Amino acid sequence: MKFELPPLSYSYDALEPYIDTRTMELHHAKHHQTYVNRLNDALADFPGLQEKYLEELLKSLDQLPEQIRQAVRNHGGGHFNHSLFWNFMRPPKEGGGGIPAGKIAEAINKKFSNFPKFKEQFTAAAVGLFGSGWVWLVSSPAEGLIITTTLNQDLPLIPDFQPLLNLDVWEHAYYLKYQNRRSEYIEAWWNIVNWDEVEKNFCK
Ligand code: MN
Repeated sequence: MKFELPPLSYSYDALEPYIDTRTMELHHAKHHQTYVNRLNDALADFPGLQEKYLEELLKSLDQLPEQIRQAVRNHGGGHFNHSLFWNFMRPPKEGGGGIPAGKIAEAINKKFSNFPKFKEQFTAAAVGLFGSGWVWLVSSPAEGLIITTTLNQDLPLIPDFQPLLNLDVWEHAYYLKYQNRRSEYIEAWWNIVNWDEVEKNFCK
């Protein structure tokens, strides 16, 4: 059983003007596809591992054969993180952006005082991340909501975390339209956050 590129639930141009069509096309059809291909290459000689859930593989990297450990970390992580990322965005015409509602809104207000303060902290983490990586909002059984960052394609090192939102701040995610202006990309991205998906993950 091979891992496959998940289709998007919207077209490549649906996130315009916040994320441009060409970036979406390259990011999904080329970058994400390459993570999937290289993950499958790494696991080609390990049919037992192909059957496992990706999350399980990524959370027990130290159990993997050494010769494929780094490849699974990089490309498996890439596949996992991007699969989440696409679903955490929604076209502005279909209700993307705005402010959260429901249980996640209550939890955000409780932890960060209010939505603007949460947005400010998440944005600061994204702007401040040096190099390539991701910004996350996760919930953990021990600490509740946490904003955290990871480098490359790593997952948060938080026990039993539930991903609620992630933002790709690799340059490939924004360079065509925003060049070096990462903070403009982040500001634009808030207009296409899929808060229903965040709520769905939070209530899992
Ligand atoms: Mn990416």
